[in-house]
Amino acid sequence: MSHEKNSPLTREINKRRTFGIISHPDAGKTTLTEKLLLFGGAIQQAGAVKSRKTDRHATSDWMAIEQERGISVTSSVMKFNYRDFDINLLDTPGHKDFSEDTYRVLTAVDSAMMIIDSAKGVETQTEKLMEVCRMRNTPIMTFINKLDRDGMEPLDILADIEEKLQIECTPLTWPIGMGKRFKGVYNLYKKELHLFSAEKETLAKEGIRIQDLSDPKLDELLGSQADDLRDDIELIEGAADPFELDLYLKGTQTPVFFGSAINNFGVQELLDAFVEMAPTPIGRKAMSREVSPYEEGFSGFVFKIQANMDPAHRDRIAFFRICSGKFTRGMKVKHHRIGKDITIANATIFMAQDRTHVEEAYPGDIIGIHNHGTIKIGDTFTTKEPLKFTGIPSFAPEHFKRVLLKNPLKTKQLQKGLMQLAEEGAVQVFRPLRGSDYILGAVGELQFEVTIARLKNEYNVDAAYEHVNIGVARWIGCDDKKCLDAFKENQMASLAMDAEEHLTYLTTSEWQLGFVMEQNPDIVFNKTREYA
Ligand code: GDP
Repeated sequence: MSHEKNSPLTREINKRRTFGIISHPDAGKTTLTEKLLLFGGAIQQAGAVKSRKTDRHATSDWMAIEQERGISVTSSVMKFNYRDFDINLLDTPGHKDFSEDTYRVLTAVDSAMMIIDSAKGVETQTEKLMEVCRMRNTPIMTFINKLDRDGMEPLDILADIEEKLQIECTPLTWPIGMGKRFKGVYNLYKKELHLFSAEKETLAKEGIRIQDLSDPKLDELLGSQADDLRDDIELIEGAADPFELDLYLKGTQTPVFFGSAINNFGVQELLDAFVEMAPTPIGRKAMSREVSPYEEGFSGFVFKIQANMDPAHRDRIAFFRICSGKFTRGMKVKHHRIGKDITIANATIFMAQDRTHVEEAYPGDIIGIHNHGTIKIGDTFTTKEPLKFTGIPSFAPEHFKRVLLKNPLKTKQLQKGLMQLAEEGAVQVFRPLRGSDYILGAVGELQFEVTIARLKNEYNVDAAYEHVNIGVARWIGCDDKKCLDAFKENQMASLAMDAEEHLTYLTTSEWQLGFVMEQNPDIVFNKTREYA
């Protein structure tokens, strides 16, 4: 293991920041992303990032976006530079029906940025995503957006966050007015005033330094609002908890910034604080031990698979998070699940607007590996010891449908399509032990629509759904073969195999599940399953 302070590997790791944005739809994620890229010099002007609203509406929008697949992939991971830092921004689907996908993306980040709409406060999807972050104690930085509009009082927003998300808030900037009276933000730690001006297209201006809040310049600049600011600051400096880096890194305290993404206001403060405070690539748990990014041995895992954007070529891209060591093009790694060596010759790195072949990459980076069906979510590749990274789960679906094939001659294509979609994590597929049909399971209903559309577009299969009387699924575990066999015998009609050949119990309701659990105390019914 090498962790020399100044080794090239250490330097590369320490300048990396890998994060995702969590927010409720419409809070401003796309807008903020675009401004961040603008600062990073990754794009030249606003309007260059196509919003990825596939996940927000129903099939029609999704299909339209399908045709622009090239863009949607590049925007699912974006790399840009800011100051001396190498930043990787991972896109997180905002729609609740794709929360499983989002969960897996969040396993690959080291920290998150949360956007809150100042008029709406904490919304439902933010609460859900926050729960996911809490499972891993992901550090979170908060941006309160849309201060150019009238919204909730800043203190009320902070109280709302603390109450609903159970995280301590500590403001690092403070807004002066809002809506028509929005004058700017005061930077509490730099003691600097940043006057509001709408800078839609270009970069922000320098802030105005003031010695302290009693500076008469403040009255000149802000008029009657100067005293309001003084009162506010006095209040929060007395009441709010001081910022502690350690608590932020543990995920129990969130530094808060205010601004207006669309006006590119307050964004630079956020980005500056982000590169200075957000964690460098952190260690990750594997089954046998914890892996430090500074280890020489290369390792990483696949957290997402996306169908290739080019319908002419059926390959798919596996998104791989590097956890330790250095990646070089043409590197040979061990693919542990299938026990084979593979050469990663044509990995892609996702710069903001295009993909380029990657020559080398470091912990924190995401590389895209072409995949012809041998790579699955959760797969670990290393150069040395066999490892298996943990914590990339699949959730028991809550919605179920039976697939009906319109043309029976397409059975093979249907099977292939469903298996591939299952590998991507787009939907879960179950084959009942009795019968020959397929039952699909989803965490969100919209996944069904996407599945039907993709079966048609990508596999040329016309399928439809039929209602099925199932409401609950659990993965079965049991060490005692005799017990398991008896259970199988008794419950044959309610058992199925999932796409990875795990035995699954499917039943109508939680009530029925409880009843069967009581009768079978030796059987374990799992609500989540790690990718094998
Ligand atoms: P997303 O759904 O989270 O990606 O949100 P978008 O970035 O698409 O923004 C949703 C809407 O809010 C769009 O109409 C944006 O123009 C608008 N918006 C974003 N930031 C601001 C802001 O700072 N002020 C105002 N007034 N509107 C904003």
